[in-house]
Amino acid sequence: MWLSGLFTEVLNAFVPCRCHFCARSYLARQAKEPWFICPDCLGNLRYAPDKIELKTMSIFSFYDYNRLASRLLRLYKYSGHYQMASFFARLLISGIEQNKDISLADQNLIIPIPSPPKRQQQRGYNHVGLIAREISRHFHAPYSLSAISVKKTVRQQAGLNYSQRLQNLSCAFAVNNSIVSGRRVILIDDVVTTGATVTEAARALMAAGAQEEVKAVALFHSRQL
Ligand SMILES: [Zn+2]
Repeated sequence: MWLSGLFTEVLNAFVPCRCHFCARSYLARQAKEPWFICPDCLGNLRYAPDKIELKTMSIFSFYDYNRLASRLLRLYKYSGHYQMASFFARLLISGIEQNKDISLADQNLIIPIPSPPKRQQQRGYNHVGLIAREISRHFHAPYSLSAISVKKTVRQQAGLNYSQRLQNLSCAFAVNNSIVSGRRVILIDDVVTTGATVTEAARALMAAGAQEEVKAVALFHSRQL
């Protein structure tokens, strides 16, 4: 029985794959996870840690939001590849572990930035929540999916500057006080552009009793509005 399993494994290793980014062919045995991006393209993810320090919070992000990063995130968010959560979680864990300013031992509640309910419903899963769950498992720290939610319709942030985004997001979040009161929170997000979303979420959390200073960690930073 194990022999046929081994045979299948060997055969599978020679299955041709086509890269979803550059369209080049390669063999499954050369693939890393996620297997639908060729190893050469995956090498184009650029680790470039960044930190924004504000009065009441710090925002850390780890990778350039380049064309490859954008493609990977779109595959994860819009093509149903929810299994990519573990790949993104590994990137984020590596960023957190390389940064001495972030200690999950100091922050005792992990909270993913929520998506508007309608968008999450269309997607079928909470894409930042799945990453937060893996981070929680890795660092043995609790996480909550119900601490914060989006309560009003927010128009798309693309094209808006920082103050326009803050205005757009004003009072957008509803927070469950009993979950966050007295807790030190670390927020998780996918892409940070101006930092307005995590800033407004942190403001709402602190208004509900979370401790200063809130920390936020994001996979990517984009300078494009
Ligand atoms: Zn490729």
